[in-house]
Amino acid sequence: MRPVFVIGSINADIVYKTPHLPAIGETTNAYSKNRYPGGKGYNQAVAASKVGSLVELIGSVGADDSGQYILETLTSQNIEIGGVSVSGEYPSGEAIIFVDENGDNMIMVSGGVNKKMTMKQIPEIKNSIILMQLEIPMEIVWHIIEAKTNNIIVLNLAPYRFFPIEKLRGVDILVMNEVEASQLVGYAEMSPELLLKQIKEGLPDCIPVITLGKEGVVYLDDEVVKISAEIVAPVDTTGAGDTFTGILAGLIDRMPLKEAMILANRGAAISTTREGAQTGMPTLDEIMNFGGMK
Ligand code: ADP
Repeated sequence: MRPVFVIGSINADIVYKTPHLPAIGETTNAYSKNRYPGGKGYNQAVAASKVGSLVELIGSVGADDSGQYILETLTSQNIEIGGVSVSGEYPSGEAIIFVDENGDNMIMVSGGVNKKMTMKQIPEIKNSIILMQLEIPMEIVWHIIEAKTNNIIVLNLAPYRFFPIEKLRGVDILVMNEVEASQLVGYAEMSPELLLKQIKEGLPDCIPVITLGKEGVVYLDDEVVKISAEIVAPVDTTGAGDTFTGILAGLIDRMPLKEAMILANRGAAISTTREGAQTGMPTLDEIMNFGGMK
């Protein structure tokens, strides 16, 4: 089993629970405030390690209260953190998250030191899975895709930023939600199936994957494959996409792609039934035992 190197963001998430999300100009009262470890890089690293992968996280925190908190949480994870550096210069990444009673959310991220990552922080990586998102400088992402060597590259196109699709040549598996997929092809309104086909035209060697929330997931390998969502009662959908992507990256080396997709889809559904992004992430056993399936 090849290790998974996650090169990405590390944040402290400040989560406010509220009866409904504020509209523009509106003040709403939160009934609770909690702090959790987060950031797409850290979240996806946890998701991959929970399904039993060997995971190494590469990223940074600031020398501040959030950074201290994040480091404490990192030491309790089953993740190699030799590649996590502490910056005396820039603040830790933070996300302010509002969650309403339906489990819907609104998120604002302050990237801080995540946006200052340099190539000096990246070790030589060979014969591994490399998992990235777009909360780090794009130059790092492009550089790693270009210098791909014999690694498998999984890229989560979140949060979307504009660039020519050709920049992604070298990515093996591209995971995005419907909004990000439509942004990638120029804000086109079309079905997920057509979005996949259009993306594949630009990236013939890549498997594009679109997550569809409570509709499940659809991807294009030799043909379009749709996997329906598991039926659950969500309490917090924060991190569902991260859970999906991390599990997928953690499993692709161990089983056929479709099986990994089915388990990632099920794992992401389980995570929506639990509070918090990372705390809701299931182990492989929990995924296998979910709904009586073995
Ligand atoms: P993002 O949070 O990145 O927008 P999605 O909302 O598409 O991502 O969710 C990612 C995955 O999480 C989905 O593909 C699905 O597997 C699972 N998921 C999300 N919401 C639900 C839900 N309400 N019921 C079941 N599964 C869900």
